[in-house]
Amino acid sequence: MQKFLNSIYKNILDIIFPIHCFGCGKNREDLLARDRWICPDCLLKINLRKEQVCPFCEKESEGGKTHFKCRDETSLDGLWVAAHYDKLVEKAVHDFKFKFFRGISHPLSGMMEKSLFEAEEFGDFQDMLLISSAKEDEEGIYMDEERNKKVETVMIPVPLHKRRYNWRGFNQSALIAQGVSDRLGIAVREDILMRVKNTKPQSKTSDGEERRKNIDNAFDCARPEEIKNKNVILLDDICTTSSTLNECAKELKKAGAKSVWGLVVARR
Ligand SMILES: [Zn+2]
Ligand SMILES: [Zn+2]
Repeated sequence: MQKFLNSIYKNILDIIFPIHCFGCGKNREDLLARDRWICPDCLLKINLRKEQVCPFCEKESEGGKTHFKCRDETSLDGLWVAAHYDKLVEKAVHDFKFKFFRGISHPLSGMMEKSLFEAEEFGDFQDMLLISSAKEDEEGIYMDEERNKKVETVMIPVPLHKRRYNWRGFNQSALIAQGVSDRLGIAVREDILMRVKNTKPQSKTSDGEERRKNIDNAFDCARPEEIKNKNVILLDDICTTSSTLNECAKELKKAGAKSVWGLVVARR
């Protein structure tokens, strides 16, 4: 009976709220709802980034590491960009944020995992992830809390200002972070970094100078004792320049973080 009711419930949901894949437009009723936003066929076609670049000068750099000459002591240590900003990714992220389709965080976090572990070369960032998550080999032990505690890597989604959070009802970066966390076994912390200034979206600023001013002192580390000597992975959906991530890195490093890397879906 329960099974019967569940299937009726599922069919009603499909009628009221069909999910059409962002790639091919099909409503793949044979799949779980969370796998329909971007169906497995279209997920395979997503243009993942083969090469990573320095977050600042955007020139080639192994594994997205910040060049020595581009950094100072509080800079972002590197940035991993999962995919190219093509039509499918753009639409998926847009509808996730502005049509409030929370389920899209599932394929986006899957895409991140795929890009990280199917990359041709493994750099410092993957090494850190592998140690932290204890994703050891093909058989992969994902969740090893003991090892995670020793290495102490935490994932922090770029926070939204309270007003924006209340408007959207969720932080899109936190949902993606949760998806990545479920896959890699690295804890997500949303109580460490706060956005204290209600900035306008970086994409609505006209130049580099305005961007820097807009984001200057926008964040505050509320719990420095929780971040001391830890590796931090900053999660964001799309990055325009690296100024938002770098501003977060500055606050976290001032609070004593050992390293701060950015992880984003795509770069505009
Ligand atoms: Zn599809
Ligand atoms: Zn550089």
